Amino acid sequence: MYRPAIYTAGGITAFVVEADTAGITVEQRNEFMGLRGIENGVTRLYQARVPAENRIGAEGDGLKVALATLNTGRLSLPAMCAGAAKWCTEIARQWSGERVQWGRPIAEHDAVAGKIAFITATTVALGSVAELSSLVADQGRHDIRIEAALAKLYSSELAWLVADDLVQIRGGRGYETADSLVARGERGVPVERMLRDLRITRIFEGSTEIMHLFIAREAVDAHLTAAGALIDPETTVSRKVRAAGQASRFYARWLPSLVTGRGQHPRAYAEFGPLATHLRFVELASRRLARQTFYGMMRWQARLEHHQRFLGRLVDIEAELFAMSASCVRAQQMHSNDLQQGRDARDLADRFCRQARVRVQELFERLWTNTDAPDRATARRTLDGRYEWAEQGILDPSIAGPCIAEVRGGPSELADQHRTV
Ligand SMILES: Cc1cc2nc3c(=O)[nH]c(=O)nc-3n(C[C@H](O)[C@H](O)[C@H](O)COP(=O)(O)OP(=O)(O)OC[C@H]3O[C@@H](n4cnc5c(N)ncnc54)[C@H](O)[C@@H]3O)c2cc1C
Repeated sequence: MYRPAIYTAGGITAFVVEADTAGITVEQRNEFMGLRGIENGVTRLYQARVPAENRIGAEGDGLKVALATLNTGRLSLPAMCAGAAKWCTEIARQWSGERVQWGRPIAEHDAVAGKIAFITATTVALGSVAELSSLVADQGRHDIRIEAALAKLYSSELAWLVADDLVQIRGGRGYETADSLVARGERGVPVERMLRDLRITRIFEGSTEIMHLFIAREAVDAHLTAAGALIDPETTVSRKVRAAGQASRFYARWLPSLVTGRGQHPRAYAEFGPLATHLRFVELASRRLARQTFYGMMRWQARLEHHQRFLGRLVDIEAELFAMSASCVRAQQMHSNDLQQGRDARDLADRFCRQARVRVQELFERLWTNTDAPDRATARRTLDGRYEWAEQGILDPSIAGPCIAEVRGGPSELADQHRTV
C-alpha cells in the first residue's frame, strides 16, 4: 500500500511513503459518523527512511503537487454526490409511490410531491455539473480551480438537501438502520447511512466556508489588481493618486460591460429552444452579480474580506448559475442525440432552472437585507458567556448510558426526575 506524505527538506517536498516502511506506526484509527470503511488515523513517522526515487516532482515542489491534486481530487466529490442523488431519486420514487397514507400514495400529497420534484431535478443538475467540470478537467486546456471548487461546493450542499428530503419522505423508516428494517421483515434501505456518509462532503476537500472564500477571492481579484492600492490604508498619498488613474481606466472599460450584453436580446441563445430563457437569465444575473460584487467592494473596501456571509451569498449565486448553465448544455446535448429522452431532459433542466432562479432571487435579496451585523454582535456576546443561562436545564449528552445522573442547572424537579431514570 502507498501513502503520499510531505517532508520538509529544501522546502516542502512530496513523497510516496510505503505503509510498511520501518518507523511508521498507526497510533489510532479514527472513527467517524459515516464513511466507516476509510482508514484515517493518527500516523507517526519516526526516523522513517524513504528512497529518493519515491519523490513526486522536484525538490521543494511539494506544496504545488498537493494543491494541484486538490483540483482533480475535488472532482471526485461531485461525482460521488451525483451518484448519491441518483440513488435518492430511485428510493424516493419507489417509496412515495408504494406508501399509502390518508387514502393516497404519499407522492400525491403536495408536500411530498414538492420534495420529489426537487430531488429529481437536482439529481439531473448534479449529474450535469459533475460531467461538465470533469470534461473541462479532462481537456487539460484550462485552469479548473474555480470550476472544481464550484462543483464541489454546490454538489455537497445540494446532495445533503436531497438526502435530507429523502429521509423525510421515508418517515420513521428514513431514520431507521437498514439492519433494523431487515430484522423486522422490511427491505433494508440504508437512507440514514446515506445521510451520514454525505455529511462529510461539506467539510473535507475544502469546507463550504473555505470554498466560499477561495472562490470569492478570485471574483474580487480583478478589482484588487485594479484598485487594491486605493483601498489599502497603508498606501501613501502619491501612490494612491497613481492608483486612482489606473483604477479609472479599468472601470471606464469594465463598468459599461455590466450594463448590456447578449442576454438582453430576446432571441439570444435561441438554439437552446425552451431553455434559452434560462441562459438569458444566467447572463443577466452574471452581470448583476458582478455589479453587486463591485458595490460590496465600494462599501466595505479592505474590510470586504470580513463580510464572509455577503461573499458566501455571491458565491452561492455563482454556483447556481454554473449549475443552470451545465444543466441546459447537457439537456440540449441529449436533445440533439435522442429526441424522446432529450425532451424529458429539457423538461427536467427547465424544472431545475426554475427552482434555481427562485433561490438566486432570494440570495440577491439577502445580499443587502439580512441580519449579518446584529448576528455578529450576538455571536460575540455568546462567546463572552452572556447567554450561558440558555445552555442550562439539560442532561449532559457526553455522559453515555441510561443512568444519567448529571443535570446541568435547571429546575430541581427536572434533575430529580432524571436521577431516578
Ligand atoms: C472523514 C474524514 C476524512 C478526511 N480525509 C482527509 C484526507 O484524506 N486528507 C486530508 O488532508 N485531510 C482529510 N481530512 C481532514 C479534513 O480535510 C478537514 O477536517 C477539513 O479540511 C476541515 O479542517 P478542520 O477539521 O481543521 O476544521 P477547522 O479548520 O478547524 O474549521 C472548523 C470550522 O471553522 C470553519 N473555518 C475555518 N477557517 C475559517 C475561516 N477562515 N473563515 C470562515 N470559516 C472558517 C470551517 O469551515 C469549519 O466549519 C479528513 C477529515 C475527515 C473528518
